[in-house]
Amino acid sequence: MPIRSRMPIAVMSITLSLAAVAGFGDAFDERVAERELLVERTIEARGVSDPDVLRAMRRVPRHAFIPERQSRNAYQDYPLPIGHGQTISQPYIVAYMTEVLEIEEGESVLEIGTGSGYQAAVLAEITSRVYSVEIIPELAESARRNLDALGYTHVMTKQGDGYYGWSEYAPYDAIIVTAAADHVPPRLIAQLGPGGVMIIPVGTPQGIQTLIRIRKLDDGTVERDGLMYVRFVPFTRERE
Ligand code: SAH
Repeated sequence: MPIRSRMPIAVMSITLSLAAVAGFGDAFDERVAERELLVERTIEARGVSDPDVLRAMRRVPRHAFIPERQSRNAYQDYPLPIGHGQTISQPYIVAYMTEVLEIEEGESVLEIGTGSGYQAAVLAEITSRVYSVEIIPELAESARRNLDALGYTHVMTKQGDGYYGWSEYAPYDAIIVTAAADHVPPRLIAQLGPGGVMIIPVGTPQGIQTLIRIRKLDDGTVERDGLMYVRFVPFTRERE
């Protein structure tokens, strides 16, 4: 009996120490003060006020989504390179776009352009139904790893051309496009549910774009308005 009882204790202590090394908690507990400053001095100061969005921005560790060499800039309010010619968006823009979507827990949101997975994690702090599509296979894979490492295992991701949306889980209550398109992909409008909101930068892909908000009314008609000028990386296509 004594031998049998000692075994599980040894096994348990190994498991516990591994969990301490690879635990999700770590990144969330790191650099809290830097995130707080960013939220207060930039995001709130520039007018984002939705409490759910501010809470999400305070919680998600942006430094866990960027390459090590960029780490010290993680809580500066600008975009940063994430490889393959792509960037993680500026935190203020992430917060602003998330606020515009007006999502609540239980509503579904589709993101086109997973990139690092950061925006998807911010969305996942607000609703448990997040779907995200990324066209570059390596980024789709690394975003998946980033999300899993932080415990965002329920965020659904796939590699593919987001021009076609993700029909399997449509309609969505909200759609967010994080790459600059020269027109609004029609399938995305089709996959937006009644009462849904989409936000997408539209304009010259290599230049300046307008952040457009599209609202689908209950009768299926669509309203658009321009919100601000932005600069995003281009929306690309799988067969070009
Ligand atoms: N939301 C990201 C930042 C995205 S940068 C983050 O939080 O890190 C824009 C991303 O859109 C890039 O990764 C780019 O590869 C991707 N992209 C461009 N065109 C796309 C398309 N047609 N379908 C899916 N993803 C696309």
